[in-house]
Amino acid sequence: MNYKMLLIKYAEIGTKGKNRYVFEDTLCKRIRQRLKPLGDFEVRREYGRIFVDAHSEYDFDAVIERLSQIFGICGICPVDVVEDVTYEQISEGCIRHIEQSYEKKNFTFKVNARRNDKTFAKNSMELNQDLGADLLNHFSELSVDIHKPDVTVYVEVRNVVLIYSKILPGPGGLPVGTNGKAITLLSGGIDSPVAAYMIAKRGVSLEAVYFNAPPYTSERAKKKVIDLATEVAQYAGVLKLHIVNFTELQLAIYENCPHDELTIIMKRLMYRMAEEIGLAADCQCIVTGESIGQVSSQTTHSLRVIDHAISELPVMRPCIGMDKQEIIDISEKIGTYETSILPYEDCCTIFVDKHPVTRPKLERIEASEKALVGKIEELYKKAMDTIEVVYCR
Ligand code: ATP
Ligand code: MG
Repeated sequence: MNYKMLLIKYAEIGTKGKNRYVFEDTLCKRIRQRLKPLGDFEVRREYGRIFVDAHSEYDFDAVIERLSQIFGICGICPVDVVEDVTYEQISEGCIRHIEQSYEKKNFTFKVNARRNDKTFAKNSMELNQDLGADLLNHFSELSVDIHKPDVTVYVEVRNVVLIYSKILPGPGGLPVGTNGKAITLLSGGIDSPVAAYMIAKRGVSLEAVYFNAPPYTSERAKKKVIDLATEVAQYAGVLKLHIVNFTELQLAIYENCPHDELTIIMKRLMYRMAEEIGLAADCQCIVTGESIGQVSSQTTHSLRVIDHAISELPVMRPCIGMDKQEIIDISEKIGTYETSILPYEDCCTIFVDKHPVTRPKLERIEASEKALVGKIEELYKKAMDTIEVVYCR
């Protein structure tokens, strides 16, 4: 038998003053969307909290897994509901709750009762003591610890009685859709899906762009990026993925520019295209997975030169100060790691020089790019006109 109700705890949204309703509504909507395929659920807001009522049988683990991917949720409490508000029923409810929620009963506990219905015969203090005594009588292994209990049994007496004691962790953050929109540069690597996740966690909706280089990169490499976008979408909501055919532009750079500057010049072009796509999609920023010093194009010198390619949208880099292992830890936690390490080629690695510049000079790069004038405008337009769009969900 499953819990009839789940109590959703949220932290930061509670502090948003007047915007609070927007945050709560967005969160409710998100919960409804995500749970819809799993059963008949009613999501409602009451007493500054969100409740999920289950009106059908459901797969508990599947529901908890989905909820633990919804930004804005910081805790999920499975609730037993007692409809008949009498002391006897509440006491039986508490016993049933402990019986079903814990396999082993050798823990310390206390009861924390709240009586919202002041006409109820016992006050909160009496409820704490009497329910505590009933639980002790029923489960011989239990013991009471008022100060540092392993388990606190919450009992809320309203028009019905709510009993809960477990708080399963949510991902925290803010509900997606409450903080604007970003265009995220998604490659097949480990870092960019993590960067996308972290920005979405702050409530930002995402679109994504992938620069593809067929036939130098395979269909499988593209499929890998679509899979990653789909994995990120489990947290970030539906992700519109723009797939740009970058091959001819890349070849033009290869043929016309110094090879030790290829990566920098390529990145600058990617940023320009991403900015254009992002502006058309009403995005306020670009997101990338760069981290200082990880490769030659991610030195502070290189990042400065790459940033200089665009002027409208700021570039956000949530991984910028993280070590590779820290990024890997997050990618494992959010479930993108296994896909990211699949060994398919990336457009950047194919044209990469053996000794790329690590301290590029802006003036030099801009001078090198002059060689592209008159050669890439058509290709640029063609690439923009032939973007393939995939909705990942
Ligand atoms: P990642 O693990 O995210 O692939 P990386 O360590 O391989 O990153 P780079 O190849 O230098 O680093 O790329 C830096 C960032 O540029 C990536 O995190 C990503 O945001 C973006 N990027 C690189 N290649 C592509 C691509 N083919 N399509 C879209 N974005 C890309
Ligand atoms: Mg990469």
